[in-house]
Amino acid sequence: MDRFSRQLLALGIDVQDRIMNAKVLIAGCGALGSSIAELLVRLGVKELKIVDADVVELSNLHRTHIFTEKDIMKPKIIACKEYLEKINSEVKIEPIFDIIDETNAENLVKDVDVVFDGLDNVNYRLILNDACVKYGKPLIYAGISGEYGNAKLVIPEKTSCLSCFLQPLDIRNACDIIGTTTVVPNFLASIQVQLFINYLRGYSKDELILVDLKELRIDKINMNRNPKCEACSLHEYKYLKNMEINCGLTRVEKAEGDKIFSSNGTELYKCNGDYIICYNQKCFKKRIA
Ligand SMILES: [Zn+2]
Repeated sequence: MDRFSRQLLALGIDVQDRIMNAKVLIAGCGALGSSIAELLVRLGVKELKIVDADVVELSNLHRTHIFTEKDIMKPKIIACKEYLEKINSEVKIEPIFDIIDETNAENLVKDVDVVFDGLDNVNYRLILNDACVKYGKPLIYAGISGEYGNAKLVIPEKTSCLSCFLQPLDIRNACDIIGTTTVVPNFLASIQVQLFINYLRGYSKDELILVDLKELRIDKINMNRNPKCEACSLHEYKYLKNMEINCGLTRVEKAEGDKIFSSNGTELYKCNGDYIICYNQKCFKKRIA
């Protein structure tokens, strides 16, 4: 317990035990997901599944604290796993090169204790929310935009879920790229991990945490379950059946176009102005806005 001696003074042995026995899924390994992964491993989580289908790019480095120039063009999940194992060689990391959509969301959440939302697309987020509510898995959400962010703990059957207050975006708006800074994703990831600690202590308040880093303000607003919510009230889970997604990363059958990069199992193709990223026999189209 030497590794956690200072933390035990703050959290106590019961909470530390719960942390070390939790099996966690992190959806997305970008600025939010990679920071969450680092914080969880340092906190003492021993078993993590991390899902992402993108590679590290130069334009990620200003906000993803665990990646360096040496990681460029590596799958984010692989660079992340390598980094996490340097922090704690005993941690069990399962990197999954994939997106989370209606074909796999249920399988991914089924056998974990807590799910972290590190996604950057509302439509994929609503699919993940449906799967978590359906299987009764706590979901710790954060969304960021510019110097603002919000975060929430979703406990199925207890609190409101994301579908209670978020709508899918139509194709035109869903593809907008939102900027942010070095600080914001890291700060929101810290709030998500604090929500995890609090959840393990029994916290179950239904509130949305609002962060304005420009003004250095944190506010909370009380939330209520929407009695017409198609996920947590009506249990219809419509996003697990049908969700239109046409931007970010989407699943494709095979590579096509001109190969522009190949190394250590990662291949990159340029096709009609978009990129196709392949790794581990799976290919995804990355739409360039
Ligand atoms: Zn709901």
